[in-house]
Amino acid sequence: MPTRPCWVEIRARTLEENYRFLMSLAAGKAELLAIVKADAYGHSLAQCAPAAVRAGAQWLGVTSVEEGVAARALCPEARVLVIGGVFAGQGAAVIEHGLTAVVWEPGQLDELEGAARAARARAGSVAVHLEIDTGMSRQGVSPDGVAPVLARFGAGSPLRLEGVMTHLFAADEADGRVTEEQLARLDEALERIEALGLYPDWLNVGNSAALLAGEAGRIAALAGRHGMKAMLRPGLALYGLAPRFEPGFKPETEPEGVGAALAGLQPVLSWKTRVVGVRTVPAGAMVGYNGTFVATEPMRLALVAAGYADGLDRRLGNRFSLLVRGQRAPLVGRISMDQAVLDVTEIAGVEAGDEAVILGTQGDETITAFDHAEATGTIPWEVFTRIGARVPRIAV
Ligand SMILES: *Cc1c(COP(=O)(O)O)cnc(C)c1O
Repeated sequence: MPTRPCWVEIRARTLEENYRFLMSLAAGKAELLAIVKADAYGHSLAQCAPAAVRAGAQWLGVTSVEEGVAARALCPEARVLVIGGVFAGQGAAVIEHGLTAVVWEPGQLDELEGAARAARARAGSVAVHLEIDTGMSRQGVSPDGVAPVLARFGAGSPLRLEGVMTHLFAADEADGRVTEEQLARLDEALERIEALGLYPDWLNVGNSAALLAGEAGRIAALAGRHGMKAMLRPGLALYGLAPRFEPGFKPETEPEGVGAALAGLQPVLSWKTRVVGVRTVPAGAMVGYNGTFVATEPMRLALVAAGYADGLDRRLGNRFSLLVRGQRAPLVGRISMDQAVLDVTEIAGVEAGDEAVILGTQGDETITAFDHAEATGTIPWEVFTRIGARVPRIAV
């Protein structure tokens, strides 16, 4: 049991509630695959993947075969979709652990087919999802390039085209125009796939923003036109945050229903440390590396046991506050690798052992992943996934 006072608390039950709430938004139109890649966005795969399954998730989404093997060990019954592709030498693990690969290049199909034949897999027993590049230019095959890839699914192949997926790259743009163009390209790809005599079950499209913006209806309609079932892939929303919509973040420019959705989601994670020492310094005292903060008066400083190696971004030094005794205590001086210093001059009674909240709520004050992201010029996804591996994730 780690005893250094820097830890993350995970409320798995909140994740279950978030999943059920998101299912209610999908309103029977679409299945929801729970994205648990990158150690469940830093929230602990071991705690979050089983929670998603308890809440009803039948599908989990991970980045890699490695993550898929870990998810399979935790959730023996779930379908596990590997969204980041299959690399040379990984086919055998995909087959052995019953993972479902997203594919878009002939080489990936060769890898899987070889492994499936080596394992004497029956014809059509290894399901794969084909990714279509509908405009993101990241991964996937273009709609007019599907024929050579689909030629691999001939009779007798152990591979079966179970799903078609694409990634909406601007679902957080409130006008939905880019998404409309992407869905039109996807429609074109689906027509080509049908013309080649293949009839996949699942149309696998859309992240948290798409779900919260109400795109489940449009995606389900497209799926229905092709005799398919719709599946969306929320990540961030599962962990209790709603992506912000562009432009701005004003209720009047948000897609309808987003405000209500925000209220339905609760954060799963809190990140905490403790005051490990308090000292009084005279006016003129320098604080931290290179003395970037100089005490302007006699001050009381609290040392906390969290630094940039724990994921407390070094750029927060001299420009962010943590919560102590329900109040905002400014971070003064540079953040060190393992420690940081708070100005608690204005907060009465601070002493060693007091809890300090890095991300979460204390009393009437809350610090969100958006607050961290704004202060460091990034996004909540990065804030969560950069919380250090050495910070224990404790179930509460
Ligand atoms: C990460 C990811 C998601 C989830 O995105 P959120 O914005 O966190 O909901 C969905 N689909 C793909 C392909 C992803 O890589």
